[in-house]
Parts: sequence; structure tokens; C-alpha cells
Amino acid sequence: MTLVDFDRVERKNLVRQYVYRERDIGRPKVERAAEWIGEFNPGIQVRAVDTRITERADIEALLVDADLVFGTVDQPAEAVQWVNDACVSHGVPHVSMGVQARSIRYWSVDPGRSACFSCALASEEDSGGPGGAPWARRLLFAQDLVNPATGPLVSLVMGFAAMEALRYLTGFAEPVAAGIMNTIDVATGTRTAQVWNRREHCEVCASAPPAADRTAGAPRGHRLKTVHA
Ligand SMILES: [Zn+2]
Repeated sequence: MTLVDFDRVERKNLVRQYVYRERDIGRPKVERAAEWIGEFNPGIQVRAVDTRITERADIEALLVDADLVFGTVDQPAEAVQWVNDACVSHGVPHVSMGVQARSIRYWSVDPGRSACFSCALASEEDSGGPGGAPWARRLLFAQDLVNPATGPLVSLVMGFAAMEALRYLTGFAEPVAAGIMNTIDVATGTRTAQVWNRREHCEVCASAPPAADRTAGAPRGHRLKTVHA
């Protein structure tokens, strides 16, 4: 497991980042998180990367031997695109998520199989009609927002996103959020699933390696064998 972050623990994080305690304030987040995982299960090999993601190449350098990327980076907003482009071109599935004041949302991209984030951006430029993804551009330019995340919201979205990650990694079920924005309104309990279309000429999707050539992730047809009961 590779953890990537550049931040130090601040008091305001404690409300939703349950790995940290008061005594951790000022420590590098990845260092303390790696320590926590080591205490939880010494059998997990953890690599803590204390660095700031500033371009797509930063992500590509971390993708060697990766089976899946869990994308939670919120700043800069373009990082959503960098994660998408780097992961698709390396054939690595990624799960991304977000939190607003009264809703949570998550989606995933199955390289070369599902639509990707660039497909979502392009579909919005085209129309807004069926298969459009009006959330994509808002996400890309959502700078300087007040962070509305609270502990319960983050716990919820991480639970949903972690289950999606387990679908990819173990094959116990097919991904349910590949090219689909899943939104849960926590005020009403309503769930919506917005499918966005794969664009025929998406350059990012075209960069995905053929499934048979992939080293990352478990081959779709054999994933059930990797489930550990
Ligand atoms: Zn695409």
C-alpha cells in the first residue's frame, strides 16, 4: 500500500480523519497513517510518500506495480484529471470520491472498458443532453471552496468507495460505479446514478493498454480466484 500526501496534521483534520489524534498535530500525515496501518496489521507493507502532486508525471511515477488508485486529492482541482489520464494510460483502475455539504458521491474508471473523466468533460462540452456529465466541469474548477466534510460524510463515502475498490481487487462482484456518478443525498437518503457516455474519439481512453497486456489489476476473468474467505 502506497500512501501519498504532502500535508501535516492540523487540529481541523481531527473532525473527520480518525487516524489522527491531538498528539499528531504537526506530523506528516503519511508518516502517521503508515504507522497506524503497521499497528493495525504488521503484515501490510506500507510505503509513505511525503510529496505534493503537481503534475500528471508525479502520478505516473507512482503507478509501477499498482493494482488500483484511490483518488482523494482535492487540490489542485486539475489533479482529478491527472489521476484519470495517468491511470487510464497505465491500465490501472481508479476510484474517486467527493463530499458536499449534504451529499456524497463516488465514481470509478475501468481503463478501456468504461467511460473516463475526459469523456465526461467532453460530453458536457457537446451537450448536456443524455449521457452528458454537467458535474465534471464544476469539479474541475471547484477551487477555494470551504471544506464541508464531516466525519459521518467521509466515513460514508469512504465505505462506498472502498467497496468499489474491493470489487476491482477481488472480483467478488463487477464494479458498480465505472463511468457512473453515484450520488447519495444524505438529507433525503435519495441515491442517483448518472451514467456518462464513453466518447468514441477520447484520446485518454485510446491510450489504455489492451486488457490482455496489462500487468496492473487482476484479469477480469480470473479475479474470483483472488478472493480470500
Ligand atoms: Zn475517455
